[in-house]
Amino acid sequence: MALMLGIESTAHTISCGLIRDDAILADVRSIYRPPDGEGIHPREASRHHVAEGPRVLSECLAKAGVGISDVDAISYAAGPGLGPCLRVGAVMARALSTHYSIPLYPVHHAIGHIDLGRLLTGAADPLVLLVSGGHTMILAFLDGQWRVFGETLDITLGQLLDQFGRSLGLASPCGGEIERMALSGTSYVELPYTVRGNDVSFSGLLSAAKSATAASGGPAVCHSLQETSFAMICEAVERALSLTGKKEFMIVGGVAANRRLSHMLEEACRIHGSSFHAVPPKYAGDCGAQIAATGILEASVNGPVQICDAFVRQAWRLDSVRINYSSSMAS
Ligand code: AMP
Ligand code: MG
Repeated sequence: MALMLGIESTAHTISCGLIRDDAILADVRSIYRPPDGEGIHPREASRHHVAEGPRVLSECLAKAGVGISDVDAISYAAGPGLGPCLRVGAVMARALSTHYSIPLYPVHHAIGHIDLGRLLTGAADPLVLLVSGGHTMILAFLDGQWRVFGETLDITLGQLLDQFGRSLGLASPCGGEIERMALSGTSYVELPYTVRGNDVSFSGLLSAAKSATAASGGPAVCHSLQETSFAMICEAVERALSLTGKKEFMIVGGVAANRRLSHMLEEACRIHGSSFHAVPPKYAGDCGAQIAATGILEASVNGPVQICDAFVRQAWRLDSVRINYSSSMAS
């Protein structure tokens, strides 16, 4: 079976992953860290990716014990993401493809999160919660496309945590540190809770949390921010479970690493009689393996693209992608 190299570079992470059959042979990452209290600067992040890309690739091949000539196909994250960052991964993929005559597959970054989650959890036809820096979406697969059953109306859950964390002067991405601080926050501070139908809105919550910090302290507000935003997500997920009747639920994306969120969702799934699946924390964030996972599925039914069609797209809706490798998913 084919050996697939996946290249991820949509935002903060440049990563290469190698998958053969259903096995991840290697997954190597380098993450751009902005100065404490600051967000990602696309140009600086892309410079980081240019500097680190060759090392990440060599290390990935060495860890898997293969050479570039053993690679049967290359997939790269073609979007959505930050233009300068996306172009680094695409240039690497196009250069390798052209020089070594290896077939090339552009992949939607978020679909990579989902496909790697399905591969690692074994969930066959789940309701999916994708919570990351770039996405907050509740999805189910129907008639060859992922359909949206709820999403954020403004910023994503990852952005909420990162923007609040940066206001405390934390290094971005801040979700892990907020989770740690929340453990010592014992009192609950009242914060705005906004669920509209199946959709959520976090911008008012972010402003209120920032304003509450001076009086209530970082740990209490971290705790309250998690409890409020995660309860909003749980309500929207419960509505979608009721509506779709899905008997499996899967959480993917960087925020899936949060234990409190998983615990709350697991409880919601128990009430609705659905099995709970979470992508392992190691593979929750952006990585090359997720791109390779979708690449393998794409290559099983579709031909590669020509170099002139190896595009990048900064804005690319997940629910606009037609998927024809549905054999392992209910359609
Ligand atoms: P991704 O874009 O999929 O790499 O996800 C990155 C997002 O995941 C960032 O917003 C991080 O702050 C967030 N994140 C990472 N670890 C955690 C955690 N333990 N709890 C909450 N959010 C997290
Ligand atoms: Mg991501």
